[in-house]
Amino acid sequence: MKPKERMAIPRQKAPELPVEVRIKNFDEVTGGFDEKTAVTEAERCLQCKKPGCVQGCPLSNNIPEFIRLLREGEVEKAYWTVRETSPMPAICSRVCPHEMQCEGGCIRGKKGDPVAIGMLERYLVDWMVANNKNLMTPCAMPKNRKVAIVGSGPAGMAAAYYLAHDGYSCTIFDSLPVLGGMLTVGIPPYRLPRDIIKAEFDALKSCGVEIIPGVTIGEDKSLQDLKDEGFEAVLLGVGAHVSRKLGIPGEDLEGVLHGVDYLRKVNLGEKLDIGKRVVVVGGGNVAIDVARTALRMGSTDVFILYRRTKKEMPAAQAEIHHLEEEGVNIEFLAAPVEIHGENGKLTKIECIRMELGECDMSGRCRPVPIEGSNFMIEADAIIPAISQSVGHTAEQGMEIELEKWGTYKVNPDTLQTSVPWIFAAGDDVLGPQTVAKAAFQAKQAAKSIAAYLEGNL
Ligand SMILES: Cc1cc2nc3c(=O)[nH]c(=O)nc-3n(C[C@H](O)[C@H](O)[C@H](O)COP(=O)(O)OP(=O)(O)OC[C@H]3O[C@@H](n4cnc5c(N)ncnc54)[C@H](O)[C@@H]3O)c2cc1C
Repeated sequence: MKPKERMAIPRQKAPELPVEVRIKNFDEVTGGFDEKTAVTEAERCLQCKKPGCVQGCPLSNNIPEFIRLLREGEVEKAYWTVRETSPMPAICSRVCPHEMQCEGGCIRGKKGDPVAIGMLERYLVDWMVANNKNLMTPCAMPKNRKVAIVGSGPAGMAAAYYLAHDGYSCTIFDSLPVLGGMLTVGIPPYRLPRDIIKAEFDALKSCGVEIIPGVTIGEDKSLQDLKDEGFEAVLLGVGAHVSRKLGIPGEDLEGVLHGVDYLRKVNLGEKLDIGKRVVVVGGGNVAIDVARTALRMGSTDVFILYRRTKKEMPAAQAEIHHLEEEGVNIEFLAAPVEIHGENGKLTKIECIRMELGECDMSGRCRPVPIEGSNFMIEADAIIPAISQSVGHTAEQGMEIELEKWGTYKVNPDTLQTSVPWIFAAGDDVLGPQTVAKAAFQAKQAAKSIAAYLEGNL
C-alpha cells in the first residue's frame, strides 16, 4: 500500500455499549476489533524508522513489529512480540492511558488521529484466547531459591512473572481476599473485566507461583518471619492505598467517603447506597471511576468538582468522554472549602470558584480562589478522589528508609531499599502511577533480585 493510501484510512472505531444499557450494569463498555477492523487499523501504521510509539511505551514494546506481523496475518507471532517485553498485555491493552504513552508518540497523531495501538494489542490477546492458545511461555525449572512478593498488584504480578521465568520459587502474599491490587479493587469491571485478571493469575499459578491472599505482612507475619521461613529476598509491591484527605472542616461527617475506599468496597461486593446526589472531587482517573461507579450503583445526580479546567484534567480523554456521555457534569474551576451537616450527617458542601493563576514550566497553572465567590451545593455524599499515599503496615518492626513523600527510598538502578534483601517497585516507589510503569519497575527489580541471589549485587 502506498503511504498516501495509508494516510487516507481513518482511525477505526471500537464498538461500545449504548449509554442507557451500560449505566445499569458493570459490563465492559468497549468491545474489541474484529479481524477486518484490526487489519484496516494496522494498515494505518507508517512503520517509522524512529518509532515514537516505542519511546512512549513504558515497557518499550516493539509496536511497529507487532503491527507489521498483524497486518500480514501472523497474529500469534505478533502476540509473542508484545509478550517479549510486556508481562501483562491483556491488561495493559485495556487500561494503559495510551494517548499519554504509545499513542501519544505516534507520528500520525501530529496531524490527525494516532494509530489505535491499544486496540490492536487487545485484538492479539482476544485472538489468542478465542483460539485457545497459551498466553504465557513455560517457566524455567525451579532452582529452589525462594522469593516473597508482598502485594498482588501489577508490580507483584510482573515481578513474579520474571522471577518464575528465571526459575525462582515465588510466593505472593496479599492482605485482601482478592488478587490484582488496584486492578481489582480500584479499576471498575466495566473497564477491566475480572476474567482477564484471573487468566493472568491462572497463568502465573501454572508457572508454579504460589499465591496466598488474606495475609497482611506486618500484621499476620513480619518481613523478618519471611526471612526466617527461608525467603532469601522480598519485593515490596504494596501500592498506594491510603486516600489523601481534603483537609477541610466537616470531613468526618457521615456521607463523606474517600475515592479508593469507596471503590474498594464496591469492588469487594458491598451494596453501598450513598444517596442520589453525589459530588466527586478531583480530575484524575480515580475521580472518573468513582463517578461512573456511583451512577451504576444507583445514584442519579452525580457530578465532579475540579479546581482547574478540562485542559488540565489528568484523566484519559476516552474516560472523560465516556463520563460525559453517561450524564456526569463537571463543575470546572471550583473546589470545596467546608462540608456542612446536621446531626452528624452531611447536608451541603460549601465551594469556592477558582481562576487560573501563575503557570509553571510545564504550562500547568495554579488554581487561585476568587474571594467572595462561595456557593453551596446540596448533596447526600461527597467523595474526594484527589490522590493516595503509601501505607506502611508491611515493614512494621523493621527500619526501611523512606522518601519525603512516604514512598520507599530505593537505589534507582537496582530498586534495592536500605535493607539489602528487600526491594520495592510500583506505586510504593513511584507514588500513584500507572500499570505499565509499575510493571516495568518490577521487571527491573526482578533482575536485581536475581543478581542479588546469585551474589552479583
Ligand atoms: C481507581 C483507579 C483507576 C486506575 N486506572 C488506571 C488506568 O486506567 N490505567 C493505568 O495504567 N493505571 C490506573 N490506575 C493506577 C494503577 O492501578 C496503579 O498504578 C497500579 O495498580 C500500581 O500497581 P502496584 O502493584 O504498585 O500496586 P497495587 O495495584 O496498589 O497493589 C498493591 C497490593 O499490595 C497489597 N498490600 C498492601 N499492603 C500489604 C501488606 N502489608 N501485606 C500484604 N499485601 C499488602 C494490597 O492489598 C494490593 O493488593 C488506577 C488506579 C486507581 C486507584
